Amino acid sequence: MSGPDVSGTALQAKPEKSAGRPTPAQSLTPGAADAPDPAGTGHLDAVAVCAWFGPALVLNDVSLSMQAATVTALIGPSGCGKSTFLRILNRMHESVPGARLAGEVLLNGKDIYSSGRRLTDVRRQIGMVFQKPNPFPAMSIADNVIAGLTLNKIKINRSDRAELVESALTKAGLWAEVKDRLSRPGGQLSGGQQQRLCIARALAVKPKILLMDEPCSALDPTSTRRIEETITELRTEVTIVIVTHNMQQAARVSERAAFFLAEQGTPGTIVESGPTEDLFEHPTDSRTADYVHGRFG
Ligand code: ADP
Ligand code: MG
Repeated sequence: MSGPDVSGTALQAKPEKSAGRPTPAQSLTPGAADAPDPAGTGHLDAVAVCAWFGPALVLNDVSLSMQAATVTALIGPSGCGKSTFLRILNRMHESVPGARLAGEVLLNGKDIYSSGRRLTDVRRQIGMVFQKPNPFPAMSIADNVIAGLTLNKIKINRSDRAELVESALTKAGLWAEVKDRLSRPGGQLSGGQQQRLCIARALAVKPKILLMDEPCSALDPTSTRRIEETITELRTEVTIVIVTHNMQQAARVSERAAFFLAEQGTPGTIVESGPTEDLFEHPTDSRTADYVHGRFG
């Protein structure tokens, strides 16, 4: 049985089974089965993910384990498929006309593309923050925070609402700045505050995973620092996957990293992934070394 959101979409992932393809249990999530994830968090495993726009293959055979309560940075030159990969992690790629994908994305071991899985349920557990802050500009700050619940038709009483607004804004590092003007429009905030409002909105539905696509690239250095602090504070309670083109940022906020590359005329793929420190200090591939040291891209 599939929910309305699933049946209405043009595609389902149709994993292309290939002989010898590793399963997460075999090789992608060492230790993942050993310990339960910290409360509230989850782990994501992408297994042999391929993505197309029309006839163009833009990602080929991407497998990555994103561990619970960990910040994983996706790095690589423009156009190598980082955003496409991130969008596949919460089923946004399928909404692009003509787009297709193959492979599996497992949230705590269960495929988010399986036919019984509702899109709204997936999106609630795997939130997204975009490059450009996108609060509802005319909506109040408080209503922006709970917009995800309202859209999901989740009922909440007055006192729970006030509590949730405060806790989500506190986690997003914005509470002190807005507590006296919660009924003012979200659009009146500065760019950096709007981005933290979007983080609060994503957190209010209590996701297990938070995806962030270059969340600071439209922000000034001070706002960027503030968001980085927020990411660091959040990491114990939500699993974060962040795309960044800023190598210092990747080094500051992430514990693990994956280097994507699309060499001329070829689809994007992961060259190397592992602890961020290893990628920066002891990369195994010379292309990783060249990229992290700013020699290209
Ligand atoms: P990155 O985020 O690493 O810059 P993207 O995932 O945005 O890369 O893009 C990967 C490839 O897919 C690029 O070649 C890009 O031109 C192409 N692409 C991205 N979005 C679309 C789209 N909506 N339609 C067609 N091609 C696209
Ligand atoms: Mg991108």
